[in-house]
Amino acid sequence: MRKGQLHKGWCPGAWRPMPAKDGLLVRLRISCGTVGASTLHVLAQAGREHGNRIFELSNRGNMQIRGVRESNLPALIKTLQSLGLIDEDTSAEAVRNVLVSPLAGLDGRNDTLRAAKRLETMLSGNKNLHALPAKFGFLIDDGSSPSLGSIAADIRFDWISAAQSFAIGIGGRANGAVFLGYCSEDALPKVSSRLATAFLLLSSSMAEPPRRMAGLIASCGAHAIAAAAGMHIADPPERGSIAEPCPIGLIRNNGQHCFGVGVAFGMLDAAMLDAAATAASKFGNGEIRLTPWRAMIVPHVTENRADAIAAYFTSHRFLVDAEDERLSVAACGGGLTCEQGTTNTRADALSLMSIARKLSKNGIALHVSGCAKGCARQASTPVTLIARDGFYDLVPNETAREDGISAADRLSLVTVRDLLENVIAGKGSNSRGIDK
Ligand code: SF4
Repeated sequence: MRKGQLHKGWCPGAWRPMPAKDGLLVRLRISCGTVGASTLHVLAQAGREHGNRIFELSNRGNMQIRGVRESNLPALIKTLQSLGLIDEDTSAEAVRNVLVSPLAGLDGRNDTLRAAKRLETMLSGNKNLHALPAKFGFLIDDGSSPSLGSIAADIRFDWISAAQSFAIGIGGRANGAVFLGYCSEDALPKVSSRLATAFLLLSSSMAEPPRRMAGLIASCGAHAIAAAAGMHIADPPERGSIAEPCPIGLIRNNGQHCFGVGVAFGMLDAAMLDAAATAASKFGNGEIRLTPWRAMIVPHVTENRADAIAAYFTSHRFLVDAEDERLSVAACGGGLTCEQGTTNTRADALSLMSIARKLSKNGIALHVSGCAKGCARQASTPVTLIARDGFYDLVPNETAREDGISAADRLSLVTVRDLLENVIAGKGSNSRGIDK
């Protein structure tokens, strides 16, 4: 792939790792985001032996092993197979994009994990669906907190109540997806299959087939998709606004306690992975839940050990304070790890994190993207910087995207800093429309 060309539609896996500057990137789709301490210890060792000891938590709740040497890939695959972490083949792996609520099933209200596993089995086994585009994704929110409502999905199921079970949505976030009625846990794989089949049927007849459900809705309308799946559009259930959560610190979940820890830029080394596994056994039930917010959660902790848990994770370089400035910025590896990058995105993001926190007290305020692909973050951000030839384009309240690149922009880091400081100080006109 030539430099500057985007990895459009590439979604790396274990069978189909993606070449990067630091070696192969192997992405693991961990079923239901649930992983045991012993598995994490084996992964940490595999990262030392076959990779460059660096792991990443992706914004789809997956785990990535970085810097894998080509010659070591077969041995790594063998280890992953022994852990039951990879599918039979590339196609089955690629289609199994199912994001589940991080705390699903912990409070015993419903059996979402079982439904999610049945959906994964259906996707892997139904070869007709292996033609789905690489990033086409399914989401199941079981109603626990933190909610997945702010995350967009192609086909989604959001828990409403015991009477109605799951709201079926396509092409968006919980508030915004096209609503197609309700279904039970048992019906969830079948409904997914019908909608995914409708997507393939309708998109295959187009000159430029869309790669996501939102694109198909824009092309042929939601009524056509619903009809092809034998369903109907309905009035959506009423819901309040759903903010992006920051699951850091002690989390109360229907009488249970969990502890969430953040990882700067979602990047951790093998020693940190070992530490997280040890914490899961020491403070919880030996399990870790991965989240799409670059944080992991230790379930089943006791409230009175919260300080000890925080101290333990702090000593192992995890973030335990939701107000930590490092949580105000998102960035991919940029020029350090990727051929498409031309700047040191993470260093630049760290140099701007204090300013970012002043722009927004909560959540991610600044996304520094190595290019228009925006791998580090799909959601919009108060300020997004898109690197281009060593400079940045600045896009307010949007995502990183190709049409965000302006011929007029080519801002140096110093200019970006001055501009943002002036916005915060209220000096001059905020001609860029940055919210603060
Ligand atoms: S966003 Fe970052 S990681 Fe993704 S392709 Fe661009 S430079 Fe590479």
